[in-house]
Amino acid sequence: MDDNATDFSRGCAWQRGQYVPIAQASIPMTDWGFLRSDATYDVVTVWDGAFFRLDAHLDRFFASCERFRLDAGKSRAEVTDILSQCVRRAGLRSSYVEMIATRGQPAWGSRDPRQAVNQFYAFAVPFVWIANEQQRERGLDVAISPVHRIPPSSVDPRAKNYHWNDLTMGLLGALDQGAESVLLTDPAGNVVEGPGFNVFAVVDGGLVTPAEGVLEGVTRRTVIEMARSLGIPVQLRALPAAELRGAQEAFLSTSGGGVLPVTKLDGRAVARGQVGPVTRRLVQTYWDWHRDPKYSTPVEY
Ligand code: PLP
Repeated sequence: MDDNATDFSRGCAWQRGQYVPIAQASIPMTDWGFLRSDATYDVVTVWDGAFFRLDAHLDRFFASCERFRLDAGKSRAEVTDILSQCVRRAGLRSSYVEMIATRGQPAWGSRDPRQAVNQFYAFAVPFVWIANEQQRERGLDVAISPVHRIPPSSVDPRAKNYHWNDLTMGLLGALDQGAESVLLTDPAGNVVEGPGFNVFAVVDGGLVTPAEGVLEGVTRRTVIEMARSLGIPVQLRALPAAELRGAQEAFLSTSGGGVLPVTKLDGRAVARGQVGPVTRRLVQTYWDWHRDPKYSTPVEY
């Protein structure tokens, strides 16, 4: 038997009723999840042996399913059990855990999505950071892209989705110009979000984050709650690119690493080009909150 068939060390997936090593994970090529990006998903992290804000991720996953008229066919308890099993079988203490509902496929020849049998998939792999250690320490250099995020009237961004062509093309353009990541804009010139994260500006000592046209990130919500508990004012409103460029501080929020400082935009320093005090406080609080039992669900190993 080849090693991949039994090696769960790189991650574990659940598919069609079975746990398999991540290298063996697959979905049928004819699943509309693949053919039409007709799917929704969510990503929850495990840190030090416990899920962080599992309830918030499950709430959003089931809400996303409803928005896209998908039925995961699993209860919250069943999803929780599958996710835990994936983490446990992979032997991971820190993990990136994804749950997915796809349209599946209707009877051959039918183009009616109502006739499709929706499918559920899940996997756990080692924790994924959106920024490496050096980038987290000195802050990221992010490009503001002329590519517009797909309009909310076309695809509801509150339902987590794989309509990533805008994000990917924007990211490729940013990498070509020497930046490390990208923020997309809307047609009015506001920044909205990037590949896997929301964005915040520190303006007049308070936080500003886009209100519309974005995924309501669980980390974004955590940042808003942390700010309130620290007495930092928060505004949810449009964030013009020019205002972000002139901000006192800027940062991204994501399950892929929490609060990630941005110290350059299009190669130009944000304020003095250093990670600012508000961002540092939020990074610290974010990791402190991981030890709060209110937000953690231990994995059963
Ligand atoms: N925006 C987009 C488009 C995303 O894909 C993600 C996460 O993958 C986020 C924002 C951040 O969401 P969260 O904080 O829940 O990870």
